[in-house]
Amino acid sequence: MGVSKMEEILRKLVEAPSVSGFEEDISKLLKKELEPFVDEVKSDRIGNVIARKGSGSPKIMIAAHMDEIGLIVKYINKKGFVIFDKIGGWDERILPTKKVLIHGSKGPVLGVIGYKPVHLQESDEQKKPVKLKEMFIDIGASSEDDVKKAGVGIGDFITNHGTLEKLGKSRVTGHAFDNRMGCLSMIEIAKGLKKFKGTLYLVGTVKEEIGLIGVRGSSFSVNPDVMLAVDTTIAGDMPGLTEEEAPLKLGDGPSLEIKDGMGVVHPRVKKWVTETAKRGKIKIQLEVMSGGATDASIVPTVREGIPAGAITIPVRYIHAPVEVADMRDVKNCVKLYVKLVESAHQYF
Ligand SMILES: [Zn+2]
Repeated sequence: MGVSKMEEILRKLVEAPSVSGFEEDISKLLKKELEPFVDEVKSDRIGNVIARKGSGSPKIMIAAHMDEIGLIVKYINKKGFVIFDKIGGWDERILPTKKVLIHGSKGPVLGVIGYKPVHLQESDEQKKPVKLKEMFIDIGASSEDDVKKAGVGIGDFITNHGTLEKLGKSRVTGHAFDNRMGCLSMIEIAKGLKKFKGTLYLVGTVKEEIGLIGVRGSSFSVNPDVMLAVDTTIAGDMPGLTEEEAPLKLGDGPSLEIKDGMGVVHPRVKKWVTETAKRGKIKIQLEVMSGGATDASIVPTVREGIPAGAITIPVRYIHAPVEVADMRDVKNCVKLYVKLVESAHQYF
C-alpha cells in the first residue's frame, strides 16, 4: 500500500534535522511547502517562519514549533569517542544503543550510543539506568583527530537516526512527531482554506522545547486577536497507564487543552473551539494536564495579553524515537482548524 501525500510531506519533515537552536533545515522546508498556498512567507530575526494569508480583521495566529529535542557534542576524547549533552526534555534511560546523526561541518555523521555489555555489569548496575555523564557516541573513529577529520566538532547538534514508517492501517511511527505533526497541520491548513474573513498568520516557531522562546517575539510582532498552538500531546492508551492518569486516546480526535502546567485556556477560545467542533461534527477530546506547556501557554503574557489556546494531536511515547500517532487525528485536527479560521470573525 502506498503512502498518502500527507505522509510523504510528514516523512520530509521528520527527516529534516532541526534541534532547538538549529532550525535552519526545517524552516527552509516549511517555507517551501507553505509558499504555494499563502500570500507571503518570510523569516524573522530569530528564525521564526511567518506566513500570511488574507487581509483585514480579525488577525488569527496559528503557531507550530519547528524544533525537536536532541543532543549536542560536548567533548571529543583522545580515543575518538564523542561526549554529549542533551537539548530539551529527554528521558535519559532511553538513550543507550540509539543510532544518531551528528550534524558536523561535512554533513551528517552516523554514530551509535555505546554501552557496557551486560556480561560485565554487576547485578546492581543492571537495576540502575546509565547516567548521561557515562554515555558516549561511537562514530567508528580511533582518535580525536579522526573525529575532527569527519567534520565533527564541539557544539554540533545531534538527532535521532530514523525515518517515518507506517504502523498498522492508519498509524505511523517515527521521531520528532513533536512537533512535525504541527508543522504538517499548518501546511494542510494553508492548503485546505479557501474563503475566510481576516488575516491568518501561520508561524513556525523556534526553540519551544527549551523555554517557549520563538513564540514570544513572533506573537509580539504579529499582534493577533487570537493565537492557537498546534502541537502534540500525550496519548495514554497503553499498558501501564490508567484512564484516570492519561485519558486521551489515539484515533479519538484532536485535543483541546483546557489546562496545562502554566495556565488555563482563554474562555472565549474554549467557546469558539467547542462550538465550532460541534457544528462541524468533529470529535474532540478535552485535556486537563498537571504539567507541560505549549507555545500557547506564554502568549497570554505578550503585549497587553493575547487570548490563546492549544489544539493538539495525541501521540504515544512522546519524546522517544518511536512516537506513534494516528493520521486520522491529524486529518481531523486540520479539518477543525480550517473551520476555526472560517468562524473566527464571529468570536474575535
Ligand atoms: Zn511540542
